[in-house]
Amino acid sequence: MKDFDLAIRGGQVIDGTGKPAFRADLGLRDGRVSEMGDLGPRTASVTLDVGGLTVAPGFVDSHGHSDFALAVNPPVQSQVAQGFTTEIGGNCGVSPFPLFDDNRGIEFDPPGVTVTWTDAPSYFATVKGRGLGVSFVPQVGHMTIRQHVLRGEDRPAGESEVDLLEALVQQALAAGAKGFSTGLDYHPTQNAATEEVIRLARAAGAYGGLYTSHIRGYGARFPEALTEALAIGKAAGVRLVVSHIAACGASRGRGPWAVQAMAEARRTGQAVACDMMLYPTSGVWWGPRAVFPSWACDWRQPWDKEAPRLQALLGDDAFRSRLRADIEEGRRRPKSGFDEEAMVFGSWDDIWIEEVGTPSSEGSSGGSSGESSHHLGSLVGLSISTAARAGAREPVDVFLDLVAAYGESLSTVHQTIDPGDFDAFLTDPWTMIGTDTVGTSLERSEEAFNIIQAHPRHYGTTARLIGSLARDQGKLSLAEAVRRLTSLPATVYGLQDRGVLRPGAWADIVVFDPLRVRERGTYRRPKAYPEGFVHVLVNGVPAVLDGKTTGATGGRLISLGT
Ligand SMILES: [Zn+2]
Repeated sequence: MKDFDLAIRGGQVIDGTGKPAFRADLGLRDGRVSEMGDLGPRTASVTLDVGGLTVAPGFVDSHGHSDFALAVNPPVQSQVAQGFTTEIGGNCGVSPFPLFDDNRGIEFDPPGVTVTWTDAPSYFATVKGRGLGVSFVPQVGHMTIRQHVLRGEDRPAGESEVDLLEALVQQALAAGAKGFSTGLDYHPTQNAATEEVIRLARAAGAYGGLYTSHIRGYGARFPEALTEALAIGKAAGVRLVVSHIAACGASRGRGPWAVQAMAEARRTGQAVACDMMLYPTSGVWWGPRAVFPSWACDWRQPWDKEAPRLQALLGDDAFRSRLRADIEEGRRRPKSGFDEEAMVFGSWDDIWIEEVGTPSSEGSSGGSSGESSHHLGSLVGLSISTAARAGAREPVDVFLDLVAAYGESLSTVHQTIDPGDFDAFLTDPWTMIGTDTVGTSLERSEEAFNIIQAHPRHYGTTARLIGSLARDQGKLSLAEAVRRLTSLPATVYGLQDRGVLRPGAWADIVVFDPLRVRERGTYRRPKAYPEGFVHVLVNGVPAVLDGKTTGATGGRLISLGT
């Protein structure tokens, strides 16, 4: 008999605690790390030689939405390909349980899902039965239960309705949901009273669960929304996670204030953490979607379909001037509410040229094509405003010229995050990292979850942290980047024996090349797995071997109390 099921020899271990790398082998048995150190002559059924590579605990996606995706495509390859071995689900008020006839499909319930379950136990049994590509942490969502109890009406709940909501939270937590989440700037919870949320958060806390809050607003209302979330956490006596923290729109620049407000709450004894996305874009990131009115461009269609149509139409002066006027009207209009703040751009400073390919329609860019197509090609990395200043033209004309000249090969994004705010959140030691994504796969092209408007974060979040933000930009150390993806979320969410590499821990392990890790997806072509992740083990089961996904399902359901 061999000493180990699997041995990992010769790597540099970053154990997840924040400590720098050290040299150690790992011997795994029965899904756990059984020894760490120098394994000497001991034997294993499988040995991975990982000289020159880094060995870290499996990453935790602190903010995922694969609740329904797991039922359709259990291996969730896009998650394991970036080193995730655990996902926190049930976020933003939306959970896959309890489901009744009247609360299905409110969100994240895409085509391809056949819902065969109802409550938490039957959902758990379903996903466990089908297998889990990553370990999954379920939470119960406010929108899901409110859609049922208030029949989809968005108004303050009556006393007996709050009783019903509370009972549903209690049932879910008793069955093993780890927390209660809200999506307070979405219908049908925008008009839920703070008192209602306090009662439901308290109910979760009574079971030892958390309150995970997509707060009341991330735009103009961000400061009051964060203040409310902190007050709810305090009044309910519950651990609080602020979801995908960001200060957008009129609240730009409030990042340092928010970090201080959370630190102040911690000083008074509150347990507060947050998660963030690692991109300068939030809400609607795709430039054409933010800029064009819906009559002109259907963002639900792939850009490579819409662009040629627009290119042809832009040759028509009447079309172009009507579109131009509409775009400018939309830009100047004061924005209010989640949809407008997140969906419509307000400044050409925020539309950023990410990629420009080969001109595909010479001569269609009005009078300026000739000498300017060369000029336009050098604009990558600039905002439309900056590009316009350089060419002494109106920004709207620069944008329309780019679309006309480059069509499908033009990639513009709507930048909504202030770099100072981004750094304030990123460097706060309590900030976890989330994809805010639905796990998907490149292996199954027919996959319902290969959503049209994919974002690079769906594939490259961890590579961006480790490769770009830590290694290339030096915003945090490699050991700290790993800690944010491992022991921090394991502590915040109470994941037993995970997030740290030590004997006895679950064998959630990522082996990567710290010099080679990088994102391969872009906004224009986001669907690409990152480079540099060599092996990924989920509870000792290889989900990625030699850089290839295996389709294995080594994950477990991590319910409350396990
Ligand atoms: Zn959310």
